Amino acid sequence: MIMTTRNHYQQAIWNEPLLIEQSQKGRLGHSLPRIEGTEEKKALNCIPELMKRENDLDLPSLSEPQVVRHFTRLSQMNFAVDLGMYPLGSCTMKYNPKIAECLAINPKITRSHPNQSPETVQGILKILYELSKMLEEISGAKRVSLAPAAGAQGEFVGALIMQKRNQEREENDRNEMLVPDSAHGTNPASAANAGFNVVKIPSDTEGLVDVKAVENIVSKHTAGMMLTVPNTYGLFEKNVEQIAGIIHDAGGLMYYDGANMNALLGRVRPCDLGFDIVHLNLHKTFSTPHGGGGPGAGPVAVVKELEEFLPIPLIEHDGERYFFDESNMPKSIGKIKDFYGNIGVLFRAYVYIMMLGEEGLRQVSGQAVLAANYLLQKLSKKSYDLPYNQGLPRKHEFVVSAKPLRDKVGTRATDLAKSLLDDGLHAPTIYFPLTIQEAMMIEPTETEAVENLNTYAGALNRIGEIALSNPNELRARPKFTTVGRLNEVQASHPRSISLNWRKIRIASTSNT
Ligand SMILES: *Cc1c(COP(=O)(O)O)cnc(C)c1O
Repeated sequence: MIMTTRNHYQQAIWNEPLLIEQSQKGRLGHSLPRIEGTEEKKALNCIPELMKRENDLDLPSLSEPQVVRHFTRLSQMNFAVDLGMYPLGSCTMKYNPKIAECLAINPKITRSHPNQSPETVQGILKILYELSKMLEEISGAKRVSLAPAAGAQGEFVGALIMQKRNQEREENDRNEMLVPDSAHGTNPASAANAGFNVVKIPSDTEGLVDVKAVENIVSKHTAGMMLTVPNTYGLFEKNVEQIAGIIHDAGGLMYYDGANMNALLGRVRPCDLGFDIVHLNLHKTFSTPHGGGGPGAGPVAVVKELEEFLPIPLIEHDGERYFFDESNMPKSIGKIKDFYGNIGVLFRAYVYIMMLGEEGLRQVSGQAVLAANYLLQKLSKKSYDLPYNQGLPRKHEFVVSAKPLRDKVGTRATDLAKSLLDDGLHAPTIYFPLTIQEAMMIEPTETEAVENLNTYAGALNRIGEIALSNPNELRARPKFTTVGRLNEVQASHPRSISLNWRKIRIASTSNT
């Protein structure tokens, strides 16, 4: 989404023509050495005939400053956590310390090839090995695989591990995965992709998993249950140990969706609560810049009994050297990612954990919970309703409903979110969880100062007041962003939009 508030300067530069429109024949932005004559022939001979281009590539001819200004201008049309608070609930857009970048972009890492022999990358393997040990400690698990590239892939790995275990035990009729109705959409999707039937568990009147429903539904078909703690309402599932007991008694496994572990970090280890498989989103909890689709890392941690099913290979250490090993893992679910995961993300998490240490990680969760509850208390009850147990503090995030405004004046969560953009503030997650009408899910994170929390609450309350006095005004917002309201349905429909510049499109039509 494009949303920075316009200032005068930006308004002027936004009218710049596209690169292809700025192109002037013969203008050059580089000075590569020319090759001619036999040198050129020699170079051309290296390319198979079939792959040689028949016409020149139709690229714009531009000077270096033109290109630099174009891309800098584009970068300024966007919003980033380095510009301001970005309280996207569940997604954890915390500030990412720049020291982690320094290590992740070190040429010793970026210039290494994944096919290099392990002997030449001992340092990298050492860091990855140590990271997996630290994540084992944080999750309380026996063993970690760093390979999964995202939370969703971690969930998929977890589901495959359950399936493999069932096959080993010849319990192939364990084909049901229990998933609460408040879960992130990836949970049912991953379970279904792994071949399970997803059984939805309702929330009770407190916003927690309905334990009675779990009791009624478990059977010899239960493979396991996926649970997010705290759940997506920001509430701690206080019955988690009881639920784990019910699932375990029925022979199933407990899966912890730890995409967002900001409330438990350094305080509670998921495996101590009864979970058998855990995934952690390093790009959320452990501070890697994300959004826009990646890259991420969703390591999976398991208890001792499930270690043999982890994806291959794992990194081992014999006291002297580090190496990839799969020799003792005939029951592994197999390989799930090319090479060994997204190393850059893994390195950033390593720096983050090393920098904070045990006490620092505890402070992260403490501050994250404090920030969320502080912000919640500042919101006007006239505009925002807190579903479920109002007296109970939330964890690192909370969900309010804009239903009072919708019922009184027809203002929707979308209108409020779009209005925030005009204040130069990023909107919260809206319309998730699906169980709350006009949901606004807010996660300020531990990295925001109290002034920013005050500003955000002030903006939300002011917008609520405007809604009550002049709801039409909000429907016309945002006014000051690069683009206004998009037709989101149309924008996600591939055939209804063309991202090609016209000249290219005409050229390709005439070819066909
Ligand atoms: C983000 C998130 C996921 C999915 O993680 P990805 O890395 O986006 O695949 C799963 N569960 C919860 C609760 C999340 O917030």
